[in-house]
Amino acid sequence: MEKHFIEYLEKKVIAEKEIKYDEARELMAISGSTVFDLFVAANRIKEHFVGKKVHLCSIINAKSGKCAENCAFCAQSSHHDTDVPVFDLVDVDEIAKSARAAEKDLATCFGIVTSGRSINSVDEFKTILSAVQRVRNETGISASASLGMLTLEQAEALRDAGLVTYHHNIETSREFFPQVCTTHSYDDSLETIKNVKKAGLRVCSGVILGLGEAEKDRVDMAFTLKELGVDSVPVNFLNPVENTRFEHNAPVEPLELLKSVAIFRFILPKKRIGICGGREKNLRDLQSLIFLAGANATMVGHYLTTKGRNKEDDLQMIHDLGLEVG
Ligand code: SF4
Repeated sequence: MEKHFIEYLEKKVIAEKEIKYDEARELMAISGSTVFDLFVAANRIKEHFVGKKVHLCSIINAKSGKCAENCAFCAQSSHHDTDVPVFDLVDVDEIAKSARAAEKDLATCFGIVTSGRSINSVDEFKTILSAVQRVRNETGISASASLGMLTLEQAEALRDAGLVTYHHNIETSREFFPQVCTTHSYDDSLETIKNVKKAGLRVCSGVILGLGEAEKDRVDMAFTLKELGVDSVPVNFLNPVENTRFEHNAPVEPLELLKSVAIFRFILPKKRIGICGGREKNLRDLQSLIFLAGANATMVGHYLTTKGRNKEDDLQMIHDLGLEVG
């Protein structure tokens, strides 16, 4: 029965008909080895709409720590006493150098990431604009930034400097969000995403799985991203950091995480879905299954506050799967 249902939904999605909320909830109920049928179907949907190319992105942690917000997963929040490096905004040369290195590593998108609710200092914002211009002028890599909340004017200034994509995660579902953060609201984040879209930038917005959310929340997140019309969806898995509020969260089984990725592909068939932070820690030997489960992007190099694995291993994995970096 479950296999027929997967087949029915696969055909429906490939025929460009949208999967309904209740159907996605039913997919979440799949268990046992049937999840592999779901992965195969998600892979076919991916190949049909977005092909076999794998996009690689890379980031620089351009300003770290001392954030006044209280996101329960985050090592950079000043509400948590962690060992995370703390430093002010790095200079433009360092950002440009890091972008050149990312391009050499075959990344197609390079993100400038800063801690904090937003960039309020005029000088810091000017530095970021200069860095975006340098990335545009000195590399062929697509410039992205993740600077917290953004006004429409800031989004337009970034666009004019050459920014292509703005990254701002919704993190989780609207219902679960108050368990994660109380210093800003879900609507604050949605407002930023709307400003970014209005400015004509690409929107990269995703989630973190493993925060303690229910299966229903995972479906809700995917439908929220669909409604927002985002372009790329980074899916992160919690890598609990000591002394953060979520340090003792129980890990989610790798196949459960991959099942969510596959369901995201059913709901967001044409989008770039990338697996980012927490891949190694949570999936262990099952990492290569991200692509079978419907992902077409991943992050290479290190994450924001945790280490990623050797990029050669990732490139080998992509090659061994018969996929191409692009
Ligand atoms: S996720 Fe961003 S806003 Fe939240 S605490 Fe961390 S740096 Fe601050």
